[in-house]
Amino acid sequence: MQRQKIIAGNWKMNGNLAFIDTITSELNNLEFTNNITVVLCPSFVHLSALSAKISNKNIKLGSQNISEHSSGAFTGETSADMLNEISVKYAIIGHSERRSIFGETDNQIAEKVKSALANGLTPILCIGESETERAQQKTETILSQQLQPVIDEIGIEKFKDVVIAYEPVWAIGTGKTASPEMAQETHQFIRQFLANNNAEIAEGVSLLYGGSVNAANSKELFAQTDIDGGLIGGASLKVDEFKIICSTAQGS
Ligand code: PEP
Repeated sequence: MQRQKIIAGNWKMNGNLAFIDTITSELNNLEFTNNITVVLCPSFVHLSALSAKISNKNIKLGSQNISEHSSGAFTGETSADMLNEISVKYAIIGHSERRSIFGETDNQIAEKVKSALANGLTPILCIGESETERAQQKTETILSQQLQPVIDEIGIEKFKDVVIAYEPVWAIGTGKTASPEMAQETHQFIRQFLANNNAEIAEGVSLLYGGSVNAANSKELFAQTDIDGGLIGGASLKVDEFKIICSTAQGS
């Protein structure tokens, strides 16, 4: 099965209007093949400005988070419905920084995935183990604990509309990358975990690798059988580097 290749750029709390001008003027002119989608995820405040500048049909808008609630007294929060209204198509959910800094739980993340799907957004569900957990050979246990509540909440069939990003926490923003073999082994585990519930659905889910991906290491990572693209942090803010990563994914 030909799975959709996805490169998502997580700008975190970076970027400004000038950067939006620069990156869109470069990316809008690229010719992408149909099997690749590039998702740009700026801060909430920049979503509309970025939306207005995107003119390439392969480039979509993504948010870095959503509320699990649909409306109400949740100061500072943004619902999936509000994002849908301004043409946001994807939502990063459960990023390790949301889990560790803002205390998001697996159950809350499962509710966010449900809310995204109910409002026409494709969730990019982030999962990954810490350095200690990997050293203690708990990676598979942790990933299972992160995935199961989502399966329980939405049902395995809904995973046809879910993207999963495997991001080992120790590789995010550290310059340390999982080796292509290690990343492939873990992606294969994730696909098998889904396949234990429904093999056909598992085969179609795009699994992204994230963690210090750059122009130099992307080719080998994206060449792995179960890696369908990347969630890119730091390198998504370097336009030339990001362009190379996008074209590498296209060719993989
Ligand atoms: C991320 O923020 O999801 C990420 C993978 O960051 P970086 O590429 O900088 O490691």
